Formats: sequence, C-alpha cells, structure tokens
Amino acid sequence: MGIKVAKFGGSSLADENQFRKVKAIIEADPDRRYIVPSAPGKRFSEDIKITDMLYRCYDLAKKGENFDEDFALIEKRYNDIIAALSLTLSLADDFSEIKSAMRAKVGRDYAASRGEYLNGKILAEYLGYEFIDAAEVIFFDENGKYAAEHTDYILSERLKNVERAVIPGFYGISANDTIKTFSRGGSDITGAIVAKAAKADLYENWTDVSGFLCADPRIVKNPRPIGIITYRELRELSYMGATVLHEEAIFPVKSAGIPINIRNTNRPEDCGTMIVASVSTLHEEENPNVITGIAGKKNFSVITLEKDRMNEEVGFGRRVLEVLERHKICFEHMPSGIDTMSVVVDDLAFTKDKSEIIKDLFEETGADSIDVESGIALVAVAGHGMKNIRGTAAKIFTALAEANINIRMIDQGSSELNIIIGVNNDDFEESIRTIYAAFEN
Ligand code: ADP
Ligand code: ASP
Ligand code: MG
Repeated sequence: MGIKVAKFGGSSLADENQFRKVKAIIEADPDRRYIVPSAPGKRFSEDIKITDMLYRCYDLAKKGENFDEDFALIEKRYNDIIAALSLTLSLADDFSEIKSAMRAKVGRDYAASRGEYLNGKILAEYLGYEFIDAAEVIFFDENGKYAAEHTDYILSERLKNVERAVIPGFYGISANDTIKTFSRGGSDITGAIVAKAAKADLYENWTDVSGFLCADPRIVKNPRPIGIITYRELRELSYMGATVLHEEAIFPVKSAGIPINIRNTNRPEDCGTMIVASVSTLHEEENPNVITGIAGKKNFSVITLEKDRMNEEVGFGRRVLEVLERHKICFEHMPSGIDTMSVVVDDLAFTKDKSEIIKDLFEETGADSIDVESGIALVAVAGHGMKNIRGTAAKIFTALAEANINIRMIDQGSSELNIIIGVNNDDFEESIRTIYAAFEN
C-alpha cells in the first residue's frame, strides 16, 4: 500500500456538498491517508472566505469594537455544514474560546488560523480520521521562519503511529508559543510538508480547476491544461503569479522527490497536472509544445543606470545591489547591457523610499544617468522545450509588435527556461492573450 497526502482547498470545502465530494474522493483510494484541509472558501463569486471573515473580526476586536454579528456568520457557516452532514460534533466551546481570545487580542495569525482548525475538526469527524492540530507538529523558529528540520522530525515520528489523520493547513506554532500562519494560500505548503514527513508517494492538491493551465483562466478563455510540468517550471510560473499553487509549496516535496498532482474536486475523473523532477524525452516528443506556460504580475519599477565604460568597472553591480539591500528591497530581475544595467523591483516597496534610493545610487555608483519607469507588468513565458530560444523569443516579440504592444524590458532567465517581458500595466492582460494565441493556434 502506498501513501498519498491530499490537500483540499477552500472552494473544495466551501459547503456540505463539497464535503460530500471530498469524502467520496478520499474513500475511493485507501492510500489517501493524510488529509490537509483549508478553511471554507467561496461558495459563489461574491461570497466571502472564512479566512477573510476571521481577519475582519480580529480587526474589529483589535479596535475594541463589537464583532458578534460578524462572528455569528462564521458560526453559522460551520454549523450549517455540521447539521447538513448529520454530525454530532459541537463547536460551541471552540467558538467561545476563539471569541475570548480575539477580545484578548492574541494575534491576527491566531484568528486566521481558526478557519482551518475548525474545518479540520469537522472533516476529521466526518471521515472518522484522527485530528492532529497543526500547532503540535508544524514549527516556526525565533525569526518567524518555517523550521523545516524540527517539523520534519516531530511530524514524521507522529505519523508513524497514525494510520489516517486530518491535519489543518496554513498554520503552526512559533518559538514563543503563539500561532503563526504561512502567507495567504499557505495550506498548499502544509500539504507539501505533510507529504514529506509521511514519505508519501504522491502529494495530491485538490482545487477547483483540472490542473495547472497554460495561462490564467481569468485572462485567457479555456487555456490548454498542462499534463506534466517540472518543479522548476512550476516554480517560475507560480512565482510569476500563476496562483494555483503557493510558490513555496514546491520545496518540501522537491527535495524528497515526491510528485505533486493537481486535481479538480468537481471533476475527479480528470487526471490533472503532474509536477515532477524532470520530463522524459519520450514525453517531450508526445508533447511538442515549446512553451509550458505563461504567467505574470503587475506593478514593478525598472531602474536603469547608465554609465560610460560600466563594463570595465569592477564592483558596479555589487554597489547597486548594496544600496537596494540597505533599503531592504529585493530585486526581481537584472537585465544588463554593456553600459547599462537595470534592476526590476516591486513598485510598492520602491516608491516609499524612491528619492532616497536614487540619491544613494548616484552617490555609490557615480552613474551618468538613472532612469525609473514605474507601472510595469512582467510576463513570464516558461518552458523546458525552449531550447531554440531565439525562435521562441522572435515569435513572442513579433506577436506583441503586431498587437501594438510596447515592450519595455526583456530578460532571459539564465536557465534558458524562461523569457521575461516587461510591458505597461495596462497592456498586461492583452500581452498574455497575444502570446498565448501565438503559440497555441
Ligand atoms: P484553492 O482554494 O483550492 O487553494 P486557489 O484559488 O488558491 O484554490 O487556486 C485555484 C485558482 O487559481 C483557479 O480557480 C484559477 O482561477 C487560478 N489560476 C491562476 N492561474 C492559473 C493557472 N495557470 N492554472 C490554473 N489556475 C490558475
Ligand atoms: N485559508 C487560507 C487563505 O485563504 C489558506 C489557504 O486557503 O491555503 O489564504
Ligand atoms: Mg490556494
């Protein structure tokens, strides 16, 4: 018998009907032994996720305002699920404990984590699985960083003695004994951590789409599903905004060589996307698409420094990066020419200290000119098949030119796995549609 860890996202557990689908999926395969649920998500597009409702309650509590009415809506959502599934479980004590803790302002992360905690309790009861509180098995260190080694040790020991369990996603315990969450969408990370600790054969990530699509379905109509993709390509795409899987979820399973399978709770018959270490040549022949996917994000600034004979100057790049480091700014990309160097940074982080940063850059580098363009969107085109990168790039640039889209920046990842193009924020969606059409038609 193998071991599968199955993570179910918010929309997969949004109401009692979704719970029924989830149970049927789990029971269809006895290998699905460890289950990681999110908090109930949206049931329809204008609905509010439980996590957002909890944040709202906590923000009211923090201001000393009454949040009874908002909290009652949360209670109702859970109680409706419990009643519809005819469970005998009562969460009344948990609800009052959470409310008191919120009044005592124990922390925003604690408040948000209760969405997964309560949902995990319900799911464990419904499945007849043991409930393991993530606060007992997932750890963060003194600096608030996820403590991978300690977690892996404690969690794998714990799972050795547990045949089947539900472990809520999104949170763990920090060094000072308070609850801490991962960033939004972080249940995907918990699923990967559990898969590693359980030495699973497969990490299944059940969501509301039939796998990783070649482009964001909110931008491109019916994009092609990706059957198989490497960890690295997926990381490029998820980092660049393809939000189907949290960008940090790759690491625990990648190091353990556990494949991820993205599946659709509403269409369990679809095989979804497999994420693996490498794609065999055989598979490449079956799937000749040069590009694997397109993704992107808005709101970047490109800082371009120009200086004659920059190429001969030792340490120029280091000085630029040191200035950014001092201002605690991460850089995303660094395309460069002979006498120019550009750094791409997040608009929000950069705008705060803009004039200071530019002043420091002039002082430290002696640049002849520094030019800043803000409101830039980055579009990444990724694919292990882009060996003929020139042909691919030419195709992208021609398509964008024909669509009258102005390219503001070009950067080719050193891995030859991706090309990044900067366009104006306003051209973002159209650029993705244009590139998609160039390759898929
Ligand atoms: P869950 O609640 O199950 O974790 P998410 O909302 O986090 O689900 O992720 C699934 C959503 O990601 C999809 O409904 C889709 O709108 C969005 N998405 C963005 N880019 C892509 C892509 N390239 N492929 C598939 N889905 C994508
Ligand atoms: N419930 C959390 C969120 O909404 C975590 C998750 O869904 O993965 O961000
Ligand atoms: Mg998600």
